[in-house]
Amino acid sequence: MDISIVVPAYNEDESLPELCAWIERVCVAQRYSYEIIIIDDGSSDTTWETIAALSQKNNAVKGIRFRRNYGKSPALNEGFTAAQGAVVITMDADLQDSPDEIPALYNMICKEGYDMVSGWKKVRHDPLSKTLPSKLFNGVARRMTGIPLHDFNCGLKAYRMQVVKSIELFGEMHRYIPALAKWSGFKKIGEKVVQHQARKYGTSKFGGWDRGVKGFLDLLTLMFIGKFGKKPMHLFGALGSLFFLAGGGLAMWLIIEKLLAIANGTKYRDVTEQTLFYLGLTAAVIGIQLFLAGFLGELIARSSTDRNRYLIEERIGLPVL
Ligand code: UDP
Ligand code: MG
Repeated sequence: MDISIVVPAYNEDESLPELCAWIERVCVAQRYSYEIIIIDDGSSDTTWETIAALSQKNNAVKGIRFRRNYGKSPALNEGFTAAQGAVVITMDADLQDSPDEIPALYNMICKEGYDMVSGWKKVRHDPLSKTLPSKLFNGVARRMTGIPLHDFNCGLKAYRMQVVKSIELFGEMHRYIPALAKWSGFKKIGEKVVQHQARKYGTSKFGGWDRGVKGFLDLLTLMFIGKFGKKPMHLFGALGSLFFLAGGGLAMWLIIEKLLAIANGTKYRDVTEQTLFYLGLTAAVIGIQLFLAGFLGELIARSSTDRNRYLIEERIGLPVL
């Protein structure tokens, strides 16, 4: 199969028929063998019934239905697990991304050898309350990940199949897929300017005030996981040793001071009356704690092969994996 198009959908029943018809038009014109995997992320409208009806008309349309709303990242994650195409393209369900971009994205992966291509909504049709935080976010993400993309969060992206099979999405990680791909060893990450429309039906599912805070915390988690996720000892062990040594050093110093005082016959203050003693003690205890945290993290990292599991209620046209 040439292309899998993965579409997360949360209450998007109005847009889906139009979107599927458009994707079908493009793929048939280009003679692609394709599938459209729509993940119903616990919608409360008739999204699932719509997917079922679309699948009846065109068996390239497949569906996964979550038992509840897990979020865009889990939806993409399950879509990635199910995808069979050599190139996997993700697209929002709300018709803001144009299926006309599919051939160009496909060619960039297949002919130009990109591992991943991210869309760039250069001209954006969203309210300022979205575009401004987004500019800020992209600046920080660029700096922290070292990937020179303008638009990390664009829903329209294309991947070589191996990329989606080797990354795991959870929380709100869909914003950082380029970073996940890079850290998995896929280096050729490109960008393509894409058309962007205003939302035609329904409302945005990402409007909350906490969007920025969550995004930032996710970025911290990600940086941490990227750098130390598989080797927590390198961070905690190092910090712990440092603290422990500092505490030990202070204790040594107090002992030497006391011995010198005894040797010289001068007066000395009791060790437990000195601030340094308590500082040293605290540092040693913190050091041991950090060291233990690192060690436990290391054990967990070694023993867990578990991935996130999301409860799926139904599937259409897809085998249970
Ligand atoms: N989405 C989802 N689960 C959610 C929230 C959003 O699957 O919990 C989907 C949504 O249906 C859409 C895509 O993610 O296809 C992007 O969402 P939206 O268009 O609301 O975001 P915006 O374009 O406003 O950033
Ligand atoms: Mg949208």
